[in-house]
Amino acid sequence: MARVVILGAGISGHTAAQHLQRLLGKKGHEVVVVSPNSQWNWIPSNIWVGVGQMAKEDVTFPLAPVYAKMGVDFRQAKAVAIWPEGDASSERPQVEVEFTSPERAGQRERIEYDYLINATGPKLNFGATPGLGPDGHTVSVCTYSHAEEASKKLQEVIARMKAGQRQRLVIGVGHGTCTCEGAAFEYTFNVEHEIRQAGVRHMAEIVYFTNENELGDFGVGGMSFMQQGFVTTSQLWTESLFRERDVRWILGAHAHRIEEGRIHYETLDGEDHVLDFDFAMLLPPFRGADLQAFDRAGEEITGDIFAPSGFLKVDADYTPKPYDQWRAEDWPKTYVSQKYANVFAVGIAFAPPHQISVPRTSPKGTVITPAPPRTGMPSGIMARAVAESIAEMIEGKASSPEHHASMAEMGAACVASAGKGWTKGTAASMTMFPVVPDYQKYPEYGRSLKDTTGELGLAGHWMKTLLHHMFIYKAKGRPGWSFIPE
Ligand SMILES: Cc1cc2nc3c(=O)[nH]c(=O)nc-3n(C[C@H](O)[C@H](O)[C@H](O)COP(=O)(O)OP(=O)(O)OC[C@H]3O[C@@H](n4cnc5c(N)ncnc54)[C@H](O)[C@@H]3O)c2cc1C
Repeated sequence: MARVVILGAGISGHTAAQHLQRLLGKKGHEVVVVSPNSQWNWIPSNIWVGVGQMAKEDVTFPLAPVYAKMGVDFRQAKAVAIWPEGDASSERPQVEVEFTSPERAGQRERIEYDYLINATGPKLNFGATPGLGPDGHTVSVCTYSHAEEASKKLQEVIARMKAGQRQRLVIGVGHGTCTCEGAAFEYTFNVEHEIRQAGVRHMAEIVYFTNENELGDFGVGGMSFMQQGFVTTSQLWTESLFRERDVRWILGAHAHRIEEGRIHYETLDGEDHVLDFDFAMLLPPFRGADLQAFDRAGEEITGDIFAPSGFLKVDADYTPKPYDQWRAEDWPKTYVSQKYANVFAVGIAFAPPHQISVPRTSPKGTVITPAPPRTGMPSGIMARAVAESIAEMIEGKASSPEHHASMAEMGAACVASAGKGWTKGTAASMTMFPVVPDYQKYPEYGRSLKDTTGELGLAGHWMKTLLHHMFIYKAKGRPGWSFIPE
C-alpha cells in the first residue's frame, strides 16, 4: 500500500486529491491532504466578496465532510518541514506538520509518505512593502476574510461620496515584483461598476496602479488578437476599456512604503512619487510557504530543494540567462523535484525558471517586472498530470513521471467580470495558447494569432457566474463534468 501526501487544499492540491482518489482510492492506497484551513475557497470569486456582491459562505465550504465522503484522510495542519530521506529513526520520507484545528492546535506530527505533492500556493508577502496589507494601510482580496474587510471599507468610501466628499480609490499591486495583475484588473472594474450602481461615480477618481510596463501585459508579456482581419494588441484593447470606464492608470510602479492614505513609489524611470488615497486594494507579492528541508542526519538542505523565493525547484532549467536566450523548453513538464524523484510541486508552489514578461529594472536597480502568473486553469491541469504520473508509478506502469503539463504547451482562459449576475455588468474574456510564449516559433507575436482571443461584452459575466457555480459544484466532489481537460 502506498501513501501520497498532498500539502495544500487549494485549486491544485484539491484537484490532485480528487484525481488520486479516483485513480487509487479503491485499490488500497492512501491519499492524505494536509491544509491549515478547514474551508475550501474559490478564490476567483473573492472579487465579488470584496465588493459586497457575495458573502463568505458563497465562496467557501468545509473540506472535512467532502474528504470524509471521498475517503481522503484530511489533517487540518500546516506543513513546516520535509525529511525526504527520513531521519535517524526511520528511512521513510516524512513531512512534519503542525495542527491548526482547534482540538489539536500547536501539536506536531510526522507523516510518512511514498509520494509528496507540494501544493501550498502562495505565502502572501505583505512584509515586502512596509505598510502594505490589512495589518497596514491597504486592503486585499486574496482571502475571503481580506475580501470581507475590503467590502466594508468600500462601503465606507461610498458613504463618504454620498455625503459629498470626493474620494480617490487606488487598485493594483503593492510591489514591483507582484503577480496576479489580472485579479487587480478585475477588482478595478467591479469597484467601478459598484460605484456607478451606487450613483456616485462622478465623485470617484479610480486609479489602476501596476508594475506592468504597459496595460494588457498581465505578466505574460501581453497578447495579440486577430479581430475581423485586424491585429489588436491586449494593450490597445485594455487601454480602450480603461478609457471607456474613465479609470486612470500608473504603469511601471514599485510601491516601496505605504503610510495611512499615502503610497510612496518609484517608477521605471527611477523617479520617486507620492500618491494619496482614500481606499487602496493592493495585492502583495507572493513567495513560497517557507518549508524547511532536512537530510537524514538532520542537516538543513532547504536551499538544495527550494529556490530563495521559497518555491520548490522542479524539472525546469534554472540557469540564469538573458531574456533573448529564454526558451519555452526552460519551463517544467512533470513538476518532479530536481533532487527527489518522489517529490512534486504544482500550482503556485513550483519555482518558475524566469519571468514571462520582459524583465525591467529602474536606473536605481529596482526590479519592476510582473512575476509569472500561475492561474487556476494551469494549476489544475498540472495537478492532474502529476496525479496521473504518481498513480502510474505506484501501480508499476511507469518508472518515472510520464504526464506532461508545461505552461509552454498549454493554454489558459480568463474571464474578468465587471459586475455580477445575469442582467447587470459586462466581462472581458481572454484565451491564449500557450501561456509561455514561444518567440522562436512566432517571433513577431510570441503566440499564433489564431490561438488568442479577446472579447469584451455582455455574455462574459454570465459565463463568470456560471463558472463560479460549476467550479464549486465540482470541488465538492460531485459527479459529471470536469473542468480540467484531458
Ligand atoms: C483575488 C484573486 C482572484 C483570482 N482570480 C482568478 C481567476 O479569475 N481565474 C484564474 O484562473 N485564477 C485566478 N486567480 C489565481 C488562482 O486563485 C490561483 O492560480 C490558484 O488559487 C493557485 O492554486 P494553488 O493550488 O497553487 O494555490 P491556492 O489555491 O492558494 O492553495 C494553496 C493551499 O495551500 C494551503 N497551504 C498554505 N500553506 C500551507 C502549508 N504550510 N502546509 C499545508 N498547506 C498549506 C492553503 O491553505 C491552500 O489550501 C485569482 C487569485 C486571486 C488572489
